[in-house]
Amino acid sequence: MQLSRMKKYLMRVLIGSSGVNLSAPGEPTGPTWTSDGPCQDGPVHVLILGAGFAGLELASRLSESESGEFQVTLIDRNDTFTFGFSKLDVMFGRRGADEVRLPYSEISKPGVEFRQETVTAIDPEQRRVETDGGSYEADILVVAMGADYDVDATPGFAEHGSEYYSVAGADRMREVVKGFDSGRIVISILRRPFKCPPAPFEAALLLHDHFTERGIRDRVEIETMGPMKAPVPITKSVSGEFLKALGERDIPYGAEQVVTEVGDGSAALDDGGTIEYDLFIGIPVHRVPEVVEASGLTEDGWVPIDPANLRTRFERVYALGDVAATPNPKAGAFAESAARVVAEDIIARRTGGELEHPNQGEGHCFLEFGGGRAGRVEVNFFGGPKPEASLVAPTIEQAAYKEDWAAARRERWFG
Ligand SMILES: Cc1cc2nc3c(=O)[nH]c(=O)nc-3n(C[C@H](O)[C@H](O)[C@H](O)COP(=O)(O)OP(=O)(O)OC[C@H]3O[C@@H](n4cnc5c(N)ncnc54)[C@H](O)[C@@H]3O)c2cc1C
Repeated sequence: MQLSRMKKYLMRVLIGSSGVNLSAPGEPTGPTWTSDGPCQDGPVHVLILGAGFAGLELASRLSESESGEFQVTLIDRNDTFTFGFSKLDVMFGRRGADEVRLPYSEISKPGVEFRQETVTAIDPEQRRVETDGGSYEADILVVAMGADYDVDATPGFAEHGSEYYSVAGADRMREVVKGFDSGRIVISILRRPFKCPPAPFEAALLLHDHFTERGIRDRVEIETMGPMKAPVPITKSVSGEFLKALGERDIPYGAEQVVTEVGDGSAALDDGGTIEYDLFIGIPVHRVPEVVEASGLTEDGWVPIDPANLRTRFERVYALGDVAATPNPKAGAFAESAARVVAEDIIARRTGGELEHPNQGEGHCFLEFGGGRAGRVEVNFFGGPKPEASLVAPTIEQAAYKEDWAAARRERWFG
């Protein structure tokens, strides 16, 4: 940290909150932003709701910013963060659920305070937030609360199906997969949008490996299905690569096949048909957290934003990551690149400048192919005349790159 910044930070710690709401929750103080222009002297209070990919990256960037005038409060209902792809580690028993949870208590960033609280109300007009721990007012409010799973949206899914999209679900699934020794497994995407478009196919490829290693692959049928025409609809070539990898392992993809109800051993399809199964793995319907919906921020289920800078229609309120209505996939790498844009926009507003690098909707999703190899699908949504995607071929080196990528984020967000 630069010496001048360090001094300012120490002064702030010594003399108190300087007008931002670092006081005990329940005693909100007034925001320091006095107009739509740059803030007057004094730190800008940025309140970030949700400490996932988007929230952690944004908090880190604001903490490291040269202007150094941000006091960040980062709120999450959980006490730990988990990478999405770690859920596959848990499902296949490579790591325990406790090993993949990264405690927020380790966050140590100048100017960033983490609070484990549940957000219970958001007033985007006033940039006022209620939690189970108190009330906050913010100069800048950032909604980064991700997507929740609406398991009850699919009748019978909770009783008869399994999922690995949550850590708890992946933990339960480990025993289910271990105990499964013959029959048909159906992996069904229940609605779009869903997190990490390759993840359902990744699970299918890894299940193939798992049963092959156990010497019982010929006794297990694996099928995938979903509402999309092709596994990765924005590009024919990447979809083709996916279909090839699935085909080589005898795993069909049922295009535009949507399960509407899960019964005991069979599931109903929206075309009136049914499919028999022995193990039903669903990618649950996704939705914004209820408190976000109740806040009036959403339209058609997600939070509309200006795709260039992630601003909502409310003054000095941003939404980014899975909660936002963006055409790019719901994935951590996209949430992270959006956080870079939001950080730059906030800093530009603080200093009276302009956002120089608007959002390109760029990112990637890793895809484990089995045999210790990983590839990744690289996407850029707004950078060119049309969205582009390509597949970085699966190799052992790419699998190592994925580990390094996660380690770098752990270091940057928590170190
Ligand atoms: C199996 C699987 C594999 C994946 N693989 C990849 C991959 O390879 N690459 C990739 O980029 N992405 C991957 N993802 C997707 C990635 O995990 C998500 O897209 C990413 O986490 C989204 O970031 P976010 O910050 O928007 O939301 P999240 O990371 O979900 O964070 C939102 C936070 O808000 C908090 N929150 C919600 N409601 C409240 C409330 N009321 N009060 C307080 N806090 C609240 C939540 O606790 C959560 O911590 C994968 C996901 C899954 C499930």
